[in-house]
Amino acid sequence: MDCLFCKIAGGEIPSKKVYEDELCYAFYDIDPQAPVHFLVIPKAHIQSVSQVDEAAAPVVGHIFAVIAQVARELGLESYRVVSNIGPQAGQSVPHLHFHVLSGRDMTWPPG
Ligand code: 5GP
Ligand code: ZN
Repeated sequence: MDCLFCKIAGGEIPSKKVYEDELCYAFYDIDPQAPVHFLVIPKAHIQSVSQVDEAAAPVVGHIFAVIAQVARELGLESYRVVSNIGPQAGQSVPHLHFHVLSGRDMTWPPG
C-alpha cells in the first residue's frame, strides 16, 4: 500500500525510532511542535480513529500502554496525546497516529 506511515513502520523510509514491538512503532515527528514530539502508530494500516472497530480496539489499548511506558522512560511528567481525524481537524497522513507532545506549556482549547 502506498502509505507513508506503513513505509516508516516497515523501515522502508527511515525515521528516528523511539520504540517498536510487533504491533506498533513510535518515532520522532519530523516537524516537532514541542521539545518532545513523537508519534505512535499501529503497524497494521488503519486510516484514523474513525476506522477503529472492536477488532482494532486491542491495538489501540496497547498503544496507550506503550505511550505510558515510553513517557515514563523519557521522564515526561506532563504531556498531551492527540489524534487528528480528517482534514478539518488537521490530519495530514491517513494512517492512525497518536501525537505525544511534551516539554512546554500548552493551551486549551487547541487551535
Ligand atoms: P497529522 O497532521 O496527520 O496529525 O500528523 C502527521 C504528522 O506526521 C505531522 O506532525 C508531520 O510533521 C509528521 N510527518 C509527516 N511526514 C513525516 C515523515 O516522513 N517522517 C516523520 N518522522 N514525521 C512525518
Ligand atoms: Zn498505512
